[in-house]
Amino acid sequence: MTDWRYYCPTKIIFGDNSLGNISDYIKDLDQKKILLVTGQKSMKKSGITDKLFDYLKNYDISVYDQVEPNPSIETLSKCIEQAKQSKSSLIVSLGGGSAIDTGKATAILLKNDGAIEDYLYKRKKIENKGMDFIAIPTTAGSGSEVTPYAVITDKKNKKKLTLSHEFMYPRMAIIDPVLTLSLSKRNTAITGIDALSHALEAYWSKNSQEISDNFALKSINLIFSSLEKACNEPGNLEYRRNMSLASLLAGMAFSNTGTNVCHAVSYPLTTYFDVPHGLACGLTLSSLLEYNKKDIGEKMTPLADSIGASYNKCSKKIEELIKNIGLPARLSELGITKGDMPLIIDEGFIIEKFEKNIKSIDKQNLEKILHNIF
Ligand code: ZN
Repeated sequence: MTDWRYYCPTKIIFGDNSLGNISDYIKDLDQKKILLVTGQKSMKKSGITDKLFDYLKNYDISVYDQVEPNPSIETLSKCIEQAKQSKSSLIVSLGGGSAIDTGKATAILLKNDGAIEDYLYKRKKIENKGMDFIAIPTTAGSGSEVTPYAVITDKKNKKKLTLSHEFMYPRMAIIDPVLTLSLSKRNTAITGIDALSHALEAYWSKNSQEISDNFALKSINLIFSSLEKACNEPGNLEYRRNMSLASLLAGMAFSNTGTNVCHAVSYPLTTYFDVPHGLACGLTLSSLLEYNKKDIGEKMTPLADSIGASYNKCSKKIEELIKNIGLPARLSELGITKGDMPLIIDEGFIIEKFEKNIKSIDKQNLEKILHNIF
């Protein structure tokens, strides 16, 4: 692509223990009432929430700590309600992609009236800028700290829906790799594979361009050099730092390209079969790379370099990484049967996402791709 745009207005603060300086970073925003959005347990258990309270002792803080993985419309609705009740004027999310997406959606919908469903099903457009929103990731994977997307689950209809608008980029992202030290091996693995999916899908997106490609390649390189090590040595800050950077760079890549096939297919795997998000995306990566390879063309050479494998071994190396970090690489290992395929294909074939894949792909192609990873 020779003609392209790139946009990311988020102020990024990256560094070990950077959370400790949060009051300095936010003083210019001149807001005193904060709504803190977090997950249900882990932040409290690890003591990170207490530390944040200490750093923000001069602020009036209300807490919404009921965000579940794959946050629902009901959760978002309660979070918005609490922001209104507490008259908060700054939303701060502390947690993984679910907490960040919930805070981000809350910040924008507080300034755009009407039913949440209307925005999720695109019956209504976002017209106003949101409230100030700060993202503090405690996992290394979602990249949501630098994207304009929030994914919310409609539980009743078993659909994952994306809220997206240029106004939704966080005002600030505070990325403190120290916060990821308490992440379990399994969550390190799952969220790390989510970052790999963001980078690879950005790279083979029809919307890819110079900047997103460079971010994606660097991210892929960091993931192949550090993810397995971070899983085996969870307390090693160097590997954690590399993974936080990999997640950030992948986020900066797909913030402008969107995701495509692997994320689309992940949605029914998550809503119908409870497969965690990152794993659900990672399952199809190797098979889709084989499918896309010829169309990726010359860009395969730098990609193979980043992965650290020869042209023919790239897909194998992705599958190996997934296995080496203790995750299943096959659908059958997740209790999914051949009889479940039509549902996954029908629900996963999301046209607006599939259209962004470098090579055109129909339902029969998708069936073969899924068959290869059964
Ligand atoms: Zn993802």
